Amino acid sequence: MTDVGRVGGGQHVLVVGAGVVGLSTAWFLQEHGARVTVVDRKGTGTGASWGNAGWLSPGLALPLNEPGVLRYGLSSLLDPAAPLSVPFTPDPGLWLFLARFAAHCRWGPWERAVRANLPLNTSCLDAFDLLDKGGVETTMHESPITAVFRSPRAAVGLLRELERVTDSGLHLDYGAATGDQAREALPQASGRVGAAVRLDGQRHVDPGTLVRNLARSVRERGGQVRDGFDVTDVRRVGDSVITTSSGDEPLFADAVVVSTGAWFDGLARTHGVRTPVRAGRGYSFTVPTSDPVPGPIYIPEARVACTPYQGSLRVAGTMEFRGPDAALDERRIGAIIASARPYLRGVRWEERSDTWVGPRPVTPDGMPLVGATRTPGVYMAGGHGMWGLTHGPITGRLLAEQIITGERPTELRALDPLR
Ligand SMILES: Cc1cc2nc3c(=O)[nH]c(=O)nc-3n(C[C@H](O)[C@H](O)[C@H](O)COP(=O)(O)OP(=O)(O)OC[C@H]3O[C@@H](n4cnc5c(N)ncnc54)[C@H](O)[C@@H]3O)c2cc1C
Repeated sequence: MTDVGRVGGGQHVLVVGAGVVGLSTAWFLQEHGARVTVVDRKGTGTGASWGNAGWLSPGLALPLNEPGVLRYGLSSLLDPAAPLSVPFTPDPGLWLFLARFAAHCRWGPWERAVRANLPLNTSCLDAFDLLDKGGVETTMHESPITAVFRSPRAAVGLLRELERVTDSGLHLDYGAATGDQAREALPQASGRVGAAVRLDGQRHVDPGTLVRNLARSVRERGGQVRDGFDVTDVRRVGDSVITTSSGDEPLFADAVVVSTGAWFDGLARTHGVRTPVRAGRGYSFTVPTSDPVPGPIYIPEARVACTPYQGSLRVAGTMEFRGPDAALDERRIGAIIASARPYLRGVRWEERSDTWVGPRPVTPDGMPLVGATRTPGVYMAGGHGMWGLTHGPITGRLLAEQIITGERPTELRALDPLR
């Protein structure tokens, strides 16, 4: 038995899940002088935090339950190559989740979710700057994201969405461009691109390296990051000790943060969390390009995100509602290539490497679950869906403040995990 409980009177917090959310929370807890242990059932960044597109994009970090998604989702059900995939399984939990999600795909709930996420969008880059200044090699680059379309008409939807975001109070610097202007700025834009939208002031990272560097920094500052702990139970025992167990080795702490991404429900339910989290699986792979890629490329019509990555291009897409541990389905890679290929040139698709699938932790109402539960000392941090990388560090900063001071920051009010 290992006792990693109080040492020297400092508060000890156990963080379950070594993705970007858990590691950021641990790092910011250390800023307050807490002692931290992060455990993961597999290892650092083995969930969604590794192979994602790496965008830090306050301008595009919008809730998934936008009304158009429902129409799009229904038409996709009949198209096996569509970027959205819902298997016809007899899983009642999945259909219940999708029914709740569909009920939130209206402008009212979407705007509520935009307002709830807004404080995260506003401060997310500052939180990355804090990590950077605190010695974490974040691998951050600033460059515009260019969205490419077949025609100016196809760009109208994104321009309207950006207008709505600006109206909600987030300053954004964006503008429409012609196909020729897009090709001038972006050697990868093909002759098929007839319009573009350029969104400035966004950043991107190499997400796998970022989480590894975060874990290293947590360790260098005296924390522990331990692999191979599959936590099966979190509960309060006595006045101040939380017991979690993995096999026959319980761990003790003053507080526990559950940040288990798409595997959230198992540990969250017993603490009063009723909002479910489901895996919206995305795929990515890396391909070489003839010319260097100057910045991220967004293909909204194909729902594909491309990012400069280690001298090549990482291509990411698809939303597949299957279990978080289901095997990679090669057909989905083929579907991403088929949908993105017409918009891009100079990409050597046949030389792809690093093929990956990872589970986005999706909530039905477009808002993450961050804060205290009904069990004293047990906190939740998850359900960030499409934007957990962008929102991970700011989530960690705010939750660490709540755990240490006992006061919930106003930014977290709408994200109450007991809602
Ligand atoms: C294809 C794709 C592209 C994306 N692109 C972007 C992007 O450009 N920008 C952006 O902001 N976001 C993006 N995302 C979303 C982002 O990757 C996720 O929202 C984010 O990584 C979630 O982080 P997390 O820490 O909550 O979960 P995870 O990274 O999944 O971490 C959870 C960890 O918990 C561990 N765990 C689970 N259960 C247990 C247990 N019982 N005991 C111990 N450990 C456990 C897992 O092993 C895992 O390591 C993308 C996602 C995908 C799939």
